[in-house]
Amino acid sequence: MRLLRYLWASPATLLGLCLSLGFDRRFVLRGVIVAEGARWPRRLGWRYRAITLGHCVLCVDEIDPELMAHEMVHVRQFERWGPLMLIAYPLASAGAAVSGGHHYDDNHFEAQARALSERSGSDSRESERPPA
Ligand SMILES: [Zn+2]
Repeated sequence: MRLLRYLWASPATLLGLCLSLGFDRRFVLRGVIVAEGARWPRRLGWRYRAITLGHCVLCVDEIDPELMAHEMVHVRQFERWGPLMLIAYPLASAGAAVSGGHHYDDNHFEAQARALSERSGSDSRESERPPA
């Protein structure tokens, strides 16, 4: 089952792997390839810290736990949508903009990532508390 999720997302992962060659470092974290450190995306006008493509997270600086939790939600979205995510995400942005919202803030996939990563963040904070 896990292999199927990787296979289904693999076209996007492959795209991410190609782009990761332009980053300073690559490592595996939580079953995902993380690439860190690149200036060229900012020069091209990229305004965000990270983007997820399948099982590949590209981060212009250094990934932190909060950002990783957010990107892991996008990984799960790619596992569900597979290569269709490469079309569904821009369509969700266009739909948000056409209906008067913001292309990023009101994108369904971003709203889901914010909601679920905040929930997992509170869970991890909970587990960091010393036992009572
Ligand atoms: Zn996001």
